[in-house]
Amino acid sequence: MDKNSKKRAVRGAAVAALVGGLAIAACGGGGGGSGFNPALLAVGTAPAPVPAPAPAAPPADPGLPAVQQTEFERQMEASRLNTGGDPQMAYPWRAFYCNLSDDNNAIVLAERAKNSIRVPLTQLFDDVWYIGTEYVGQYILRDANGFVMIDAGNNAQEMRDYDLPALRQLGLSSTLPLNGVLVTHGHFDHDGGALELKAATGAPIYLGSADAINKAYDPAKLDSMVQDPYDIVVGGRTITVLSTPGHTAGTTGYVVRAKDGGKDVKLFVSGGSSLVTDNVALIQAYLHSMERTYALIKTLKVDTASNPHIYWDGSRALIYKIREQGLKSPSQFVIGNEKLLRAMAIGYSCTAAWLAKKSPDTAVPVWRVSAIDFVAGSPSPNRIAARLVNGWGPVAGKTVSFSTASGEAVCQATTDAKGVASCATPTPALSVGAEQLVARFEGTSTEQTVDLGSEATAPFEDLKSSLCRDLAQARQASGSRVGDSIYKARLDADGDGVIGVSDVQQIAALLPQGSTCP
Ligand SMILES: [Zn+2]
Repeated sequence: MDKNSKKRAVRGAAVAALVGGLAIAACGGGGGGSGFNPALLAVGTAPAPVPAPAPAAPPADPGLPAVQQTEFERQMEASRLNTGGDPQMAYPWRAFYCNLSDDNNAIVLAERAKNSIRVPLTQLFDDVWYIGTEYVGQYILRDANGFVMIDAGNNAQEMRDYDLPALRQLGLSSTLPLNGVLVTHGHFDHDGGALELKAATGAPIYLGSADAINKAYDPAKLDSMVQDPYDIVVGGRTITVLSTPGHTAGTTGYVVRAKDGGKDVKLFVSGGSSLVTDNVALIQAYLHSMERTYALIKTLKVDTASNPHIYWDGSRALIYKIREQGLKSPSQFVIGNEKLLRAMAIGYSCTAAWLAKKSPDTAVPVWRVSAIDFVAGSPSPNRIAARLVNGWGPVAGKTVSFSTASGEAVCQATTDAKGVASCATPTPALSVGAEQLVARFEGTSTEQTVDLGSEATAPFEDLKSSLCRDLAQARQASGSRVGDSIYKARLDADGDGVIGVSDVQQIAALLPQGSTCP
């Protein structure tokens, strides 16, 4: 066992030891152990200035050996490269998860100042609404059995003035009752209206047991010591519960099921998202919670995030988009499983960087988000190939498995220097037009690095129709970049992150001799 693996081995024990008995700190990304200052809630409070970047270092002498990255630098680099060049991942996701390691807590403080700006009741799905402020709010779920609410109000007055009237407006009655409230953690901006809510409705209010100390509303306790996710049923709705200590010891995440245009959709409700501590054991617990959250979101194929702090995960921008455009089907609130997983990996990297800063000799692996896509003209009888990339570049030497969407293995190949895995042709007997093919990289890990898995699905078509569609789309997407809705990795033949003339030319060159597209 080397030094690092010993440290990793003790991490689990440290996590178990710290849960319970922790004092509940202030909400939000205070950092540096600082307490919460209510004065910051006042509108117009100027955020602390963002520190100017350090002057650039003089160019390195090429004759000297490269300076080895510190653990902090390694994780910070990962937090940036894991955005995959997607501006949405850089902001808000990375900006907030990395606010402490960026030494930029000012952006969180600036958001707290928006706690008095109301966001009206807004429908996000067939059966889900948001109500609250621009800083923090509650989600209301309604079906034929009644209501389930996420978080119990910012404070007593908001509960009386906004939340209870909203519930009544949506039909709260003795035949359509509030069946339960899922509280993310025991800070006052998440359960400040709990007593009023319980008095008005009698609904059970669920809270992680480690936060359920001295609570006048007598919460129904969810055991914070349980590491694995488990299901509870509230008002006929299945809720997956995951204890995620870190922000507080009793912080709890939830996966809730809702309906989007009649279809099932899964939302991840993050517990406390910000780190508020210099306490290394608590930072480690938070990191471990990120790992388990990532695993849960992957396993359940969760579709999107719905953080009570709507600025943190881009929910606020999506709520305003829906208010402006009207609710569409599918809802504009969905970011998709792939982006959500990427965001969680960024959160992991940011937390690992903060851990490295507070405990420089504690090493945890660097997570690298991978992305895979079939290449142009694939999958077709002539070509089954996919390219695997991450923020560091093409990923070589990894096994990619191709299968039908129903799970039947087709072939396996190893990625080359360009990250492309190509199966030998001719391919087995697959019926063109009838099959969907899946390219899957399972992921690999070493002591230093975790390469996260990824997969892509595409219809199995004849080469010409596949290429002609790619060509048309590449022309249409010309100038688009990673993160744009019309950008597709399969169209980016040169893999430079932008769809351009050279991509169109390279795709056109794959057309069989003498054939032209309609
Ligand atoms: Zn909090």
